[in-house]
Amino acid sequence: MSNKNIENYLRPDLYTLKTYNASEKSYAVKLHANENPFDIPLSVREKIAEEIVSGTMFNRYPDSDANILREQIGKLYSLNKDNVLVGSGSDELIEIILNAFVDKGDYVLCPTPSFVMYKIFTQMAGGIPVEFTLGENFQYKIDEIIGLCEKYQPKVLFLCSPNNPTGNTIPKEDVITLVSGFDGIVVVDEAYGEFSGESMIPYVNDYPNMIVLRTFSKAYGLAGLRIGYSVSCKALADLTNIVKPPYNVNSFSQRMACLALESYDIFRDRYERIIELREELYNELLSIEGITVYPTKANFVLIEVPDSESIYNSLLEKDILVRSYTGHPILNNCLRVTVGTEEENKLFLKCFRSILSKRRLTQG
Ligand code: PMP
Repeated sequence: MSNKNIENYLRPDLYTLKTYNASEKSYAVKLHANENPFDIPLSVREKIAEEIVSGTMFNRYPDSDANILREQIGKLYSLNKDNVLVGSGSDELIEIILNAFVDKGDYVLCPTPSFVMYKIFTQMAGGIPVEFTLGENFQYKIDEIIGLCEKYQPKVLFLCSPNNPTGNTIPKEDVITLVSGFDGIVVVDEAYGEFSGESMIPYVNDYPNMIVLRTFSKAYGLAGLRIGYSVSCKALADLTNIVKPPYNVNSFSQRMACLALESYDIFRDRYERIIELREELYNELLSIEGITVYPTKANFVLIEVPDSESIYNSLLEKDILVRSYTGHPILNNCLRVTVGTEEENKLFLKCFRSILSKRRLTQG
Protein backbone atom coordinates (compact mmCIF):
# COMPACT_ATOMS: atom_id res chain seq x y z
CA MET A 1 0.00 0.00 0.00
CA SER A 2 1.40 3.43 -0.87
CA ASN A 3 1.61 5.82 2.07
CA LYS A 4 -0.43 8.80 0.96
CA ASN A 5 -1.49 11.24 3.66
CA ILE A 6 -5.20 10.94 2.95
CA GLU A 7 -6.21 13.08 6.00
CA ASN A 8 -5.04 16.06 3.95
CA TYR A 9 -7.61 15.34 1.26
CA LEU A 10 -10.48 16.61 3.45
CA ARG A 11 -11.57 20.22 2.99
CA PRO A 12 -9.69 22.16 5.72
CA ASP A 13 -12.88 23.96 6.81
CA LEU A 14 -14.35 20.56 7.77
CA TYR A 15 -11.49 19.49 10.07
CA THR A 16 -13.46 20.47 13.17
CA LEU A 17 -16.57 18.46 12.17
CA LYS A 18 -17.04 15.03 13.69
CA THR A 19 -18.93 12.10 12.20
CA TYR A 20 -22.58 12.28 13.30
CA ASN A 21 -22.88 9.68 15.99
CA ALA A 22 -26.24 7.92 15.76
CA SER A 23 -25.06 4.64 17.24
CA GLU A 24 -28.01 2.35 17.75
CA LYS A 25 -27.57 0.20 20.80
CA SER A 26 -30.41 -2.16 21.43
CA TYR A 27 -32.51 -1.42 24.48
CA ALA A 28 -35.97 -2.74 25.26
CA VAL A 29 -37.48 0.73 25.65
CA LYS A 30 -36.19 3.33 23.21
CA LEU A 31 -37.26 6.83 24.17
CA HIS A 32 -34.25 8.69 22.83
CA ALA A 33 -34.90 9.60 19.18
CA ASN A 34 -38.40 11.14 19.10
CA GLU A 35 -39.66 8.25 17.03
CA ASN A 36 -43.28 7.18 16.84
CA PRO A 37 -43.89 4.16 19.08
CA PHE A 38 -46.48 2.75 16.66
CA ASP A 39 -45.25 0.90 13.59
CA ILE A 40 -47.09 0.95 10.23
CA PRO A 41 -50.72 -0.24 10.61
CA LEU A 42 -51.38 -3.78 9.41
CA SER A 43 -53.84 -2.68 6.71
CA VAL A 44 -51.17 -0.45 5.13
CA ARG A 45 -48.54 -3.17 5.49
CA GLU A 46 -50.80 -5.63 3.68
CA LYS A 47 -51.51 -3.16 0.90
CA ILE A 48 -47.82 -2.46 0.24
CA ALA A 49 -46.99 -6.18 0.41
CA GLU A 50 -49.66 -6.86 -2.20
CA GLU A 51 -48.29 -4.11 -4.45
CA ILE A 52 -44.74 -5.41 -4.17
CA VAL A 53 -45.83 -8.93 -5.07
CA SER A 54 -48.04 -7.83 -7.92
CA GLY A 55 -45.72 -5.54 -9.74
CA THR A 56 -43.97 -2.47 -8.28
CA MET A 57 -41.03 -2.06 -10.64
CA PHE A 58 -37.84 -1.67 -8.69
CA ASN A 59 -35.69 -2.01 -11.81
CA ARG A 60 -36.84 1.46 -12.87
CA TYR A 61 -35.75 4.75 -11.30
CA PRO A 62 -38.31 6.43 -9.07
CA ASP A 63 -40.25 9.47 -10.25
CA SER A 64 -37.52 12.07 -9.75
CA ASP A 65 -40.09 14.78 -9.03
CA ALA A 66 -42.30 12.59 -6.81
CA ASN A 67 -45.31 14.06 -8.62
CA ILE A 68 -48.04 11.92 -7.06
CA LEU A 69 -46.75 12.36 -3.53
CA ARG A 70 -46.31 16.12 -3.95
CA GLU A 71 -49.82 16.35 -5.33
CA GLN A 72 -51.22 14.51 -2.29
CA ILE A 73 -49.21 16.63 0.16
CA GLY A 74 -50.40 19.76 -1.63
CA LYS A 75 -54.02 18.61 -1.29
CA LEU A 76 -53.59 18.05 2.43
CA TYR A 77 -53.00 21.79 2.83
CA SER A 78 -55.25 23.01 -0.01
CA LEU A 79 -52.13 23.96 -1.92
CA ASN A 80 -50.56 22.88 -5.17
CA LYS A 81 -47.83 20.34 -5.83
CA ASP A 82 -45.71 23.28 -7.04
CA ASN A 83 -45.53 24.42 -3.42
CA VAL A 84 -44.01 21.15 -2.30
CA LEU A 85 -40.60 19.46 -2.57
CA VAL A 86 -39.82 16.06 -1.08
CA GLY A 87 -36.54 14.90 0.34
CA SER A 88 -34.92 11.83 1.82
CA GLY A 89 -35.99 12.95 5.27
CA SER A 90 -36.34 16.63 6.11
CA ASP A 91 -32.61 16.40 6.88
CA GLU A 92 -31.95 16.30 3.15
CA LEU A 93 -34.14 19.36 2.60
CA ILE A 94 -32.14 21.33 5.18
CA GLU A 95 -29.02 20.40 3.24
CA ILE A 96 -30.61 21.25 -0.13
CA ILE A 97 -31.84 24.65 1.11
CA LEU A 98 -28.39 25.56 2.40
CA ASN A 99 -26.74 24.42 -0.82
CA ALA A 100 -29.14 26.54 -2.83
CA PHE A 101 -28.93 29.78 -0.87
CA VAL A 102 -25.67 29.85 1.10
CA ASP A 103 -22.39 30.74 -0.54
CA LYS A 104 -18.92 30.29 0.99
CA GLY A 105 -18.58 32.64 3.96
CA ASP A 106 -22.28 33.56 4.17
CA TYR A 107 -23.85 33.70 7.61
CA VAL A 108 -26.71 31.45 8.75
CA LEU A 109 -28.58 32.08 12.00
CA CYS A 110 -29.21 28.92 14.03
CA PRO A 111 -31.05 28.67 17.37
CA THR A 112 -29.47 27.00 20.38
CA PRO A 113 -30.44 24.74 22.04
CA SER A 114 -32.09 23.30 18.96
CA PHE A 115 -31.62 20.75 16.20
CA VAL A 116 -27.86 20.45 15.61
CA MET A 117 -28.09 19.68 11.90
CA TYR A 118 -28.77 23.35 10.99
CA LYS A 119 -25.27 24.18 12.13
CA ILE A 120 -23.61 21.08 10.69
CA PHE A 121 -25.19 21.40 7.23
CA THR A 122 -24.30 25.13 7.23
CA GLN A 123 -20.64 24.24 7.77
CA MET A 124 -20.84 21.55 5.10
CA ALA A 125 -22.18 24.16 2.66
CA GLY A 126 -19.23 26.43 3.49
CA GLY A 127 -21.42 28.91 5.41
CA ILE A 128 -20.76 30.32 8.87
CA PRO A 129 -23.32 29.41 11.52
CA VAL A 130 -24.15 32.16 14.01
CA GLU A 131 -25.90 30.69 17.02
CA PHE A 132 -28.51 32.65 18.95
CA THR A 133 -29.47 31.49 22.42
CA LEU A 134 -33.09 30.98 23.35
CA GLY A 135 -34.42 32.99 26.31
CA GLU A 136 -36.30 32.16 29.47
CA ASN A 137 -38.17 28.86 29.12
CA PHE A 138 -36.49 28.61 25.72
CA GLN A 139 -38.62 31.30 24.12
CA TYR A 140 -37.31 32.77 20.86
CA LYS A 141 -36.21 36.36 21.60
CA ILE A 142 -37.54 38.13 18.54
CA ASP A 143 -35.90 41.55 19.08
CA GLU A 144 -32.53 39.94 19.57
CA ILE A 145 -32.93 37.85 16.41
CA ILE A 146 -33.87 40.98 14.44
CA GLY A 147 -30.72 42.64 15.79
CA LEU A 148 -28.59 39.70 14.66
CA CYS A 149 -30.21 39.76 11.22
CA GLU A 150 -29.22 43.42 10.88
CA LYS A 151 -25.70 42.76 12.14
CA TYR A 152 -24.85 39.65 10.10
CA GLN A 153 -27.18 39.93 7.09
CA PRO A 154 -27.56 36.12 7.11
CA LYS A 155 -28.79 34.29 4.04
CA VAL A 156 -30.90 31.86 6.07
CA LEU A 157 -32.56 31.99 9.49
CA PHE A 158 -33.66 28.73 11.10
CA LEU A 159 -36.61 28.53 13.46
CA CYS A 160 -37.78 25.25 14.97
CA SER A 161 -41.36 24.97 16.21
CA PRO A 162 -41.96 22.91 18.30
CA ASN A 163 -38.32 23.31 19.14
CA ASN A 164 -36.25 20.15 19.50
CA PRO A 165 -35.23 19.40 22.28
CA THR A 166 -37.17 21.92 24.37
CA GLY A 167 -40.72 21.35 23.07
CA ASN A 168 -41.94 24.98 22.97
CA THR A 169 -43.52 26.59 19.91
CA ILE A 170 -43.00 30.06 18.46
CA PRO A 171 -46.15 32.21 18.31
CA LYS A 172 -47.39 32.72 14.76
CA GLU A 173 -47.20 36.52 15.13
CA ASP A 174 -43.51 36.28 16.04
CA VAL A 175 -42.74 34.18 12.97
CA ILE A 176 -44.60 36.70 10.82
CA THR A 177 -42.62 39.58 12.37
CA LEU A 178 -39.37 37.81 11.49
CA VAL A 179 -40.41 36.67 8.04
CA SER A 180 -41.68 40.09 7.02
CA GLY A 181 -38.81 42.08 8.54
CA PHE A 182 -35.97 39.91 7.27
CA ASP A 183 -34.52 39.96 3.76
CA GLY A 184 -33.43 36.31 3.47
CA ILE A 185 -34.86 32.82 3.73
CA VAL A 186 -36.66 31.86 6.93
CA VAL A 187 -36.89 28.11 7.43
CA VAL A 188 -39.60 27.11 9.91
CA ASP A 189 -38.86 23.52 10.86
CA GLU A 190 -42.15 21.89 11.89
CA ALA A 191 -40.85 18.32 12.12
CA TYR A 192 -43.09 17.94 15.20
CA GLY A 193 -45.86 20.24 13.93
CA GLU A 194 -48.64 17.63 13.95
CA PHE A 195 -48.22 17.24 17.71
CA SER A 196 -48.69 20.97 18.29
CA GLY A 197 -51.61 21.63 15.97
CA GLU A 198 -49.90 24.88 14.91
CA SER A 199 -48.46 25.59 11.48
CA MET A 200 -47.15 28.30 9.21
CA ILE A 201 -48.03 26.29 6.09
CA PRO A 202 -51.26 28.25 5.41
CA TYR A 203 -49.13 31.41 5.04
CA VAL A 204 -46.51 30.25 2.53
CA ASN A 205 -48.09 32.17 -0.34
CA ASP A 206 -48.28 35.36 1.75
CA TYR A 207 -44.59 35.30 2.72
CA PRO A 208 -42.46 34.41 -0.30
CA ASN A 209 -39.22 34.06 1.73
CA MET A 210 -40.58 31.38 4.10
CA ILE A 211 -40.02 27.62 3.79
CA VAL A 212 -41.84 25.27 6.16
CA LEU A 213 -40.38 21.80 6.75
CA ARG A 214 -42.35 18.72 7.75
CA THR A 215 -41.58 15.02 7.88
CA PHE A 216 -43.16 11.59 7.73
CA SER A 217 -40.65 10.41 10.36
CA LYS A 218 -42.45 11.56 13.49
CA ALA A 219 -46.26 11.86 13.39
CA TYR A 220 -46.57 9.23 10.64
CA GLY A 221 -43.98 6.86 12.11
CA LEU A 222 -42.09 6.32 8.84
CA ALA A 223 -38.63 7.31 10.12
CA GLY A 224 -37.01 4.26 8.55
CA LEU A 225 -38.24 5.25 5.08
CA ARG A 226 -36.70 8.75 5.10
CA ILE A 227 -39.34 11.07 3.68
CA GLY A 228 -39.63 14.76 4.47
CA TYR A 229 -41.07 17.73 2.61
CA SER A 230 -40.86 21.47 2.28
CA VAL A 231 -43.75 23.81 1.62
CA SER A 232 -43.18 27.31 0.23
CA CYS A 233 -44.40 29.60 -2.52
CA LYS A 234 -43.81 28.14 -6.00
CA ALA A 235 -41.01 30.57 -6.89
CA LEU A 236 -38.98 29.58 -3.83
CA ALA A 237 -39.67 25.87 -4.37
CA ASP A 238 -38.41 26.24 -7.97
CA LEU A 239 -35.16 27.83 -6.78
CA THR A 240 -34.64 25.20 -4.08
CA ASN A 241 -35.35 22.47 -6.63
CA ILE A 242 -32.32 23.53 -8.68
CA VAL A 243 -29.96 21.74 -6.29
CA LYS A 244 -32.21 18.80 -5.35
CA PRO A 245 -30.45 15.61 -6.43
CA PRO A 246 -32.41 13.61 -8.99
CA TYR A 247 -34.29 10.49 -7.78
CA ASN A 248 -33.67 11.48 -4.17
CA VAL A 249 -36.66 9.62 -2.71
CA ASN A 250 -36.91 5.97 -3.66
CA SER A 251 -40.01 4.38 -5.20
CA PHE A 252 -40.92 2.38 -2.10
CA SER A 253 -40.78 5.39 0.21
CA GLN A 254 -42.77 7.55 -2.22
CA ARG A 255 -45.48 4.91 -2.41
CA MET A 256 -45.57 4.35 1.36
CA ALA A 257 -45.95 8.07 2.00
CA CYS A 258 -48.83 8.16 -0.50
CA LEU A 259 -50.45 5.18 1.22
CA ALA A 260 -50.07 6.92 4.58
CA LEU A 261 -51.90 9.97 3.21
CA GLU A 262 -54.57 7.73 1.65
CA SER A 263 -55.07 6.23 5.15
CA TYR A 264 -54.75 9.63 6.79
CA ASP A 265 -57.47 8.98 9.40
CA ILE A 266 -55.59 6.01 10.87
CA PHE A 267 -52.35 7.97 11.10
CA ARG A 268 -54.09 11.05 12.52
CA ASP A 269 -55.78 8.93 15.22
CA ARG A 270 -52.36 7.61 16.14
CA TYR A 271 -50.66 10.94 16.50
CA GLU A 272 -53.65 12.26 18.41
CA ARG A 273 -53.19 9.30 20.76
CA ILE A 274 -49.54 10.31 21.18
CA ILE A 275 -50.71 13.81 22.16
CA GLU A 276 -52.95 12.25 24.87
CA LEU A 277 -50.08 10.08 26.07
CA ARG A 278 -47.79 13.12 26.14
CA GLU A 279 -50.23 14.98 28.38
CA GLU A 280 -50.45 11.99 30.73
CA LEU A 281 -46.67 11.64 30.87
CA TYR A 282 -46.19 15.37 31.39
CA ASN A 283 -48.73 15.51 34.24
CA GLU A 284 -47.18 12.49 35.95
CA LEU A 285 -43.74 14.10 35.67
CA LEU A 286 -45.07 17.33 37.18
CA SER A 287 -46.00 15.43 40.33
CA ILE A 288 -42.39 14.32 40.88
CA GLU A 289 -40.44 16.48 43.33
CA GLY A 290 -36.95 17.79 42.68
CA ILE A 291 -37.06 17.96 38.89
CA THR A 292 -38.05 20.64 36.37
CA VAL A 293 -40.37 19.61 33.55
CA TYR A 294 -40.62 21.96 30.58
CA PRO A 295 -43.98 22.45 28.85
CA THR A 296 -44.08 20.68 25.49
CA LYS A 297 -46.09 20.63 22.30
CA ALA A 298 -44.00 17.89 20.69
CA ASN A 299 -43.77 14.11 21.18
CA PHE A 300 -41.06 14.45 23.81
CA VAL A 301 -40.52 16.11 27.17
CA LEU A 302 -37.39 17.88 28.42
CA ILE A 303 -36.65 17.30 32.10
CA GLU A 304 -33.97 18.85 34.27
CA VAL A 305 -32.76 16.45 36.94
CA PRO A 306 -30.24 16.67 39.80
CA ASP A 307 -27.60 14.47 38.10
CA SER A 308 -28.38 13.54 34.51
CA GLU A 309 -25.35 11.31 34.02
CA SER A 310 -26.15 8.92 36.87
CA ILE A 311 -29.91 8.94 36.21
CA TYR A 312 -29.31 8.25 32.51
CA ASN A 313 -27.06 5.31 33.41
CA SER A 314 -29.53 3.96 35.97
CA LEU A 315 -32.25 4.06 33.31
CA LEU A 316 -29.95 2.19 30.92
CA GLU A 317 -29.51 -0.51 33.56
CA LYS A 318 -33.29 -0.91 33.44
CA ASP A 319 -33.06 -1.23 29.65
CA ILE A 320 -34.52 2.23 29.03
CA LEU A 321 -32.74 4.58 26.62
CA VAL A 322 -33.42 8.33 26.79
CA ARG A 323 -31.42 11.27 25.43
CA SER A 324 -28.97 12.86 27.83
CA TYR A 325 -27.53 16.36 27.52
CA THR A 326 -24.86 15.97 30.19
CA GLY A 327 -22.10 18.48 29.52
CA HIS A 328 -24.21 20.60 27.15
CA PRO A 329 -23.47 24.29 27.79
CA ILE A 330 -27.17 25.14 28.26
CA LEU A 331 -28.90 21.83 28.90
CA ASN A 332 -26.46 20.24 31.32
CA ASN A 333 -28.43 17.87 33.58
CA CYS A 334 -31.32 17.65 31.14
CA LEU A 335 -32.84 14.48 29.74
CA ARG A 336 -35.17 14.36 26.74
CA VAL A 337 -37.74 11.61 26.91
CA THR A 338 -39.79 10.64 23.85
CA VAL A 339 -43.45 9.77 24.41
CA GLY A 340 -43.74 6.00 24.03
CA THR A 341 -46.65 3.59 24.22
CA GLU A 342 -48.78 3.63 27.38
CA GLU A 343 -46.83 0.65 28.75
CA GLU A 344 -43.44 2.17 27.91
CA ASN A 345 -44.35 5.47 29.57
CA LYS A 346 -45.57 3.66 32.69
CA LEU A 347 -42.39 1.61 32.89
CA PHE A 348 -40.26 4.71 32.39
CA LEU A 349 -42.14 6.60 35.13
CA LYS A 350 -41.90 3.69 37.55
CA CYS A 351 -38.14 3.33 37.06
CA PHE A 352 -37.52 7.09 37.00
CA ARG A 353 -39.42 7.57 40.27
CA SER A 354 -37.60 4.72 41.95
CA ILE A 355 -34.17 5.95 40.76
CA LEU A 356 -34.91 9.44 42.09
CA SER A 357 -36.20 8.23 45.45
CA LYS A 358 -33.22 5.89 45.95
CA ARG A 359 -30.98 8.83 45.18
CA ARG A 360 -32.76 10.95 47.79
CA LEU A 361 -32.36 8.21 50.40
CA THR A 362 -28.65 7.73 49.77
CA GLN A 363 -28.09 11.47 49.84
CA GLY A 364 -29.94 11.68 53.21
N1 PMP B 1 -35.90 18.64 12.19
C1 PMP B 1 -35.94 18.35 13.49
C2 PMP B 1 -36.25 19.45 14.45
C3 PMP B 1 -35.68 17.05 13.94
O1 PMP B 1 -35.71 16.79 15.25
C4 PMP B 1 -35.37 16.05 13.00
C5 PMP B 1 -35.06 14.62 13.39
N2 PMP B 1 -34.68 14.36 14.61
C6 PMP B 1 -35.34 16.41 11.65
C7 PMP B 1 -35.62 17.70 11.28
C8 PMP B 1 -34.99 15.41 10.58
O2 PMP B 1 -35.96 14.45 10.47
P1 PMP B 1 -36.06 13.52 9.20
O3 PMP B 1 -34.81 13.68 8.42
O4 PMP B 1 -36.26 12.16 9.74
O5 PMP B 1 -37.27 14.03 8.43
